[in-house]
Amino acid sequence: LSEKLSNAFKKLKNKGKLSENDVKEAMREVRLALLEADVNYKVAKELTAKITERAVGQDVMESLTPGQMVVKIVNEELTELMGGDNARIEFASKPPTVIMLCGLQGSGKTTHAAKLALMLKNQNHRPLLVACDIYRPAAIDQLKVVGAKAGVPVFEKGTQNPVKTAKEAIRNAKDYGNDVVILDTAGRLHIDEELMDELKNVKAEVEPNEILLVIDSMTGQDAVNVAKSFNEKLEISGVILTKLDGDTRGGAALSVKAVTGKPIKFAGTGEKLEDIEVFHPDRMASRILGMGDVLTLIEDAQNKIDQDKAEEMAKKMMSNKFDFNDLNDQFAQIKKMGPLKGILAKIPGIANQLDNINIDDRQIDWTQAIILSMTPEERSNPSLLNPSRKRRIAAGSGRSVEEVNRLIKQLEQMQKMMKQLKNKTKGTKGGKKRK
Ligand code: GDP
Ligand code: MG
Repeated sequence: LSEKLSNAFKKLKNKGKLSENDVKEAMREVRLALLEADVNYKVAKELTAKITERAVGQDVMESLTPGQMVVKIVNEELTELMGGDNARIEFASKPPTVIMLCGLQGSGKTTHAAKLALMLKNQNHRPLLVACDIYRPAAIDQLKVVGAKAGVPVFEKGTQNPVKTAKEAIRNAKDYGNDVVILDTAGRLHIDEELMDELKNVKAEVEPNEILLVIDSMTGQDAVNVAKSFNEKLEISGVILTKLDGDTRGGAALSVKAVTGKPIKFAGTGEKLEDIEVFHPDRMASRILGMGDVLTLIEDAQNKIDQDKAEEMAKKMMSNKFDFNDLNDQFAQIKKMGPLKGILAKIPGIANQLDNINIDDRQIDWTQAIILSMTPEERSNPSLLNPSRKRRIAAGSGRSVEEVNRLIKQLEQMQKMMKQLKNKTKGTKGGKKRK
């Protein structure tokens, strides 16, 4: 999915302005990519319609980088679709809080009962795990093993009726001061009435504060259908999306909230008990988009770089008047965004290449020192810079004459480049001004 979307956006990036057609074109590809990632058809269609409506409009047309603006809108809509803010566990006002986990066989209920228990234990709760899966002999043992690993007690009554076991467990929790009770229930390979009836009974008798449906993210669209059925029959309160460490298709995550109206509360990201996270819709959206923290980068840039200044700069560049004053301004803008390595790390595909690279942010300071050691006259008229002036600047900035020379060369090269650019754009329609 990420690759597809990246391609769709790359097309936009090459254009200065977005027309309605551009957005529509990109959205067709976005929709196809979403469908391929197992996103529910209706959801994909509604989502792209909504994005198109927002994107073809003033905020995109007038923004500095229209392509990035569309990425931002897509991300915001994906985030909204997955529930906006991250949801939390609703604790009972009077303990114990009862959390019932349900889901198909193999979705990760037992594992996540223990993960959740460990997480809560680390937050100073005193959870109790309860074995309500009585059909497979190994199920109770499995819960005992992971419970021991998590250092959390496990309540079990063998093959006794799960409703009875759950009620006894809650009484036991009250007696022993356990403030959270986590019920690990049975699953089947497919949804069947018998299982649903049993779960409904448990629900009716113990009135859980949370009914969390555990779904396997790797089952794609099936997971969404499962969520729909469970929600209709049991009215769940949230979802735990497991195995996100495997195949990273985001399809299930995208559709679950839209189809059930229930938020994804936690994500399972591995086999170890520590591998559970509070689900963050915004992070998931970025991950689906495959753009690293590019959205944070866009926001940083929008907040910190003064747009008028940027436009003024662009005009200057095109008018051959780009001098050391402008260069100094540019450095100041870049510095506002923070360390260079941080900026680069947010660009997709670059982060993992940065490990062995040393980027010295002092380079900018050094360069600025040289510029600031020039007189205002020298800054706007670099041709004044003769050897004696260069020596004075080098001494003043604490840099070498060589460095001063290099910087002058760089400015000359930039001026030359801009001249070429200007000649190229002459006679084309591209020279139109924004806003
Ligand atoms: P249950 O039948 O719903 O109780 O599912 P289990 O908790 O027994 O999990 C089924 C299998 O999935 C086990 O082998 C788990 O180790 C594995 N599993 C569960 N959650 C995750 C996860 O988030 N990531 C990975 N990689 N494996 C998981
Ligand atoms: Mg189990």
